[in-house]
Amino acid sequence: MKTYDNQNIFAKILRGEIPCDKVFESEFTLAFKDINPAKKVHIVVIPKGSYVDVNHFTEKATDKEIVDFFKSLNLISNQVGVADSGYRAITNLGKDGGQEVPHFHMHILGGEHVTLDIS
Ligand code: 5GP
Repeated sequence: MKTYDNQNIFAKILRGEIPCDKVFESEFTLAFKDINPAKKVHIVVIPKGSYVDVNHFTEKATDKEIVDFFKSLNLISNQVGVADSGYRAITNLGKDGGQEVPHFHMHILGGEHVTLDIS
């Protein structure tokens, strides 16, 4: 059973308590620029629902939320211009996965070559 911390930074962004540079919004999904971009294009994509990580999301979210999330990845990658040049979509989970913010998110990284760093 995963306990969601509603004081995490993405929860505050969703509640409008802190600003974000929004690039996309749908019924169930929000995307904004990463505050500390690792590549020329670095977008964070999050569900609006309260899910700790991708396992929590796929276990508890509705089919509508899950479909909306992955369709949004497609729309966002086209919107920010990396769909043709390519990009990496990654998610980090938990301590060993290096997850810093405990609200499920995927990173869209692109706009330049993304080297494979599996350290
Ligand atoms: P994680 O390590 O959890 O997969 O990634 C968290 C990401 O959130 C990092 O890339 C970090 O730069 C980004 N981040 C942390 N705080 C903020 C914030 O307040 N605003 C935005 N836009 N991104 C943030």
